[in-house]
Order: sequence, then structure tokens, then C-alpha cells
Amino acid sequence: NIRVRFAPSPTGHLHIGGARQALFNYLFARRHNGAFIVRIEDTDQARNVEDATDKLMQSLKWLGLDWDESIENGGPHAPYQSSERLDIYQTYIDRLLKEKKAYYCYMTSEELEAEREAQIARGEMPKYSGRDRDLTREQQQAYEAKGIKPVVRFRVPDSESEVVIDDVIRGQVSFETDGIGDFVIARSDGVPTYNFAVVIDDYLMEISHVIRGEEHLSNAPRQALLYDAFAWEQPRFAHAPLILNEDRQKMSKRDETIMQFVEQYRASGYLPEALVNFLALLGWSPASEEEKFSVEELSERFSLERVSKAPAVFDQDKLAWMNNQYMKEADPDRLTALVIPHLQKAGRLRDDFTEEDREWIRELVEIYQEQMHYAEEFVALTSLFFQSSIDYEGDALDVLKEPQVPEVMQSFSKQLDGVETFEVDGIKQAIKATQKETGHKGKRLFMPIRAAVTGQTHGPELPKAIKLLGKETVQARLVAASH
Ligand code: GLU
Repeated sequence: NIRVRFAPSPTGHLHIGGARQALFNYLFARRHNGAFIVRIEDTDQARNVEDATDKLMQSLKWLGLDWDESIENGGPHAPYQSSERLDIYQTYIDRLLKEKKAYYCYMTSEELEAEREAQIARGEMPKYSGRDRDLTREQQQAYEAKGIKPVVRFRVPDSESEVVIDDVIRGQVSFETDGIGDFVIARSDGVPTYNFAVVIDDYLMEISHVIRGEEHLSNAPRQALLYDAFAWEQPRFAHAPLILNEDRQKMSKRDETIMQFVEQYRASGYLPEALVNFLALLGWSPASEEEKFSVEELSERFSLERVSKAPAVFDQDKLAWMNNQYMKEADPDRLTALVIPHLQKAGRLRDDFTEEDREWIRELVEIYQEQMHYAEEFVALTSLFFQSSIDYEGDALDVLKEPQVPEVMQSFSKQLDGVETFEVDGIKQAIKATQKETGHKGKRLFMPIRAAVTGQTHGPELPKAIKLLGKETVQARLVAASH
């Protein structure tokens, strides 16, 4: 029975790394007809951010990663939020205490700090010394009388010198227990730490595979020791590679030069299926050279064996390219709905726009669909349709200096005047008539017209662009260009 989970801590928006982790779990579950669980790990109250849970769930939904069990729809192992499972954790903490596999530690933070400094001064790796491992009941009471509230520490067994994690992606990874001090499993307020809660939850929720980022590999030995202490079978661990930025540095959430949160991509008008496709390739690769996969195709192909150990590099340009691949094929109505809020934000469309406005935008979308990388970009791409004055790009200015330009402008202007319905067919005929009248054809004809009406020498289909600009604007631009 395959059961996997995505277990975010509600510390903010869904990060690219978290989304990749959620996706790998989702795909693995779908591939094996297993269950995908979303669990909220919020025991580290100091790091919790209000509303973050809602935001995380919304981003997952937007990506289309629907889950089988979660705080929203419940499931056989509810509750799916650690802060609501404190009683459950307490019984297991008590069990370890009773079996002497855990103990109370009364060291204050000052004492711990002093111990650390002394160890560093001696050139040792700092770790908790184990001072309170074997306190008598009387000693404990003496500390308590002083008002010290203890934490609970796990007693790392002296008998085990090494912990081996059999990782699906990384193979056997061994850790010396000597380097692992007795670690805290419950804070002085009784709330368990991540390393403890995660083991209890994964066990009780019958998680078969723990698929997560490499940054958690160093937690795995502590978790493995806890499984052993309870005599529980470990899940299979699979640590996916780190995601680096283009400078091959670990991505930092503070780096604002790259968009790192799923919400940012949604807000800029990316398509979720493109982001899913892109995320799948951050560490996983198919057996073939193909790159474009629907989520269904990914669900059929995904395997942990094809997840690499080598770090993945996050390339935002590649994501934009990928999104363009999907935009080219998308339904123009869908893209229209996506660009509308951006046009409104830019002040190019009223809030109470008409059905006619919408239709005009849809046609504009159609002529830019090939070029558009994301919906927000549409605003800049289409500026020339919203300005009364025109900005000529450099090469457009060069074209307009060619000697045939005034003649072409005047002729085309006259031909356009004769067009009855200002539609693509009529406009095409006007161009043809201009060719006949002036004797200019090909580039010598099209380039000046394009440069005159769009200010550019490349761009959308000319007759359609002319239609969407409207007769008046085009006439004014032809006049402007003929001088
Ligand atoms: N709550 C942890 C995180 O957000 C999850 C770690 C895990 O998957 O075990 O990073």
C-alpha cells in the first residue's frame, strides 16, 4: 500500500522547492494507485505565519495536486495538523520516558551555550554532553524546585554506533551516532519537536515512502533512531536533490531577483500545467528526450529511480519558455480571462468593460498567443494598441526612411478608405490594391506599412493588427509616417 505525504510547515507561501516536493509525492501516489496526504506541520509555533495554511492549500489546488486526505477533507487518520495531535504525541513521549529511552533535561540555555563554547574551544564538534541523562528523582526535584521546566531528550543509544539510511535516490547513507547528541523531542511547554512529531505522524498515518528535499537528509538518522526505539518499521526514505539558482547557489528565500513562490507565478499569469511540467523536470527526467508532459503523462512515467542525486538548477527563463509552449496551445478564451486583470491593473481596460471589449481583447490574444510567455507580459507586448501616439523602434525608423515610403503610405491610406467593412479580408485587398497601384511588393511594401502602423519591423499578423487598431488610428499613423 503506497501512502505518501506532503507535510509543509505553515511559514509562508508555497515555495518552488515545496511545490516540487508535493508534486513528486503526488505523482508517485498516482503512479502506484496510492494515497497522497497533505499534513500541516505546525508544532514550531514561533515560525508559524497566519493564513499560511490557506495559502499553501490554495497553491496546491491551483497546481491541480489534489489530495486524498488532508485538514480540508479529513481521512482515516485525522487530525492532519500537528497542533491538534498533541495528546497523541504525549502518549508516545510518556512511553519513551517510561522505557528510559528518553529523559528530562534541565539545562538552561545559558548552560547549554557555555557547554557549546567550551567544546568549540577544545576543538570538538559541539553536541549536548548528556549531563542530565541519569539524574535521580531527587536531583530532578531539586531542579524543579528552582522552577526550571525541563525539555525531554531522546537517549541516543550507546550501543548503536552508526545509523544507515537506505535511501531510494541516494543509496545507503550512513551517519555516525557519535555526532548526534541526545536531541530534544519535546520542548519545555510539552510541544514536540519536528523530528519527533514527524515520526509519530508518518507511522500512525501508515506512510510508506517519505519523499522530500535533500535538506532533510540530516534529519533522517534522528528519525530512524526513533523508529528503532519504538520498534517500528521505517518508511522508505527518498531525498530529492537540492534546487540551486543559476549561480549554482542554494536558493535563498530572501533572494528577490528570482520568483520563488508558486503564488508569484499564478499572479503573473502562468499556466499551472506548465509549472507542473517544469517542476517535474527539477530532478526527475524521463527515459526519452521529450520535455513536454501533461500531469497524466507524468503520473504514468514518474519513478523515484529516475530522480537524480545531482542538484537541479532552477532556470526561470526555461520556465517562461515552457509556459509559452503551453500558451501557444491554450484556448484563447482562457488566455483572455488571464490577461484581463493585467490590462485592468495597467489602466487599459475599465472594470465595467463590455462584451465587445472582451471580444476585441480575445482577438488581440490570438495574434500574440505565439509570443506570449505569461499573461502579464501581454501588457507590454500590446502597448502599441493602447497608445494614441506611436513609438518607433530603431529599425522601424530606418525602414520609414526608404524612398518608396510616402507613395506607399498615401496609396494604402486611400485604399483603406475604400474598404467597406474594416475586416481582415478587406484590409488584405487594400494591401493588394496598394501593390498594384505603386508597383512595390514584398518587403518593400509590407515593411513600411508594418513599421508605420506598429512602430516595429516584426510582430503580429499585419492585417489582423490593422483591424484591431481600427481605421482611424491606422489612418493617423499612415499620415504620420509619410512625412
Ligand atoms: N515540515 C517539514 C518542512 O516543511 C517537512 C519535512 C518532511 O517532509 O519530513 O520542511
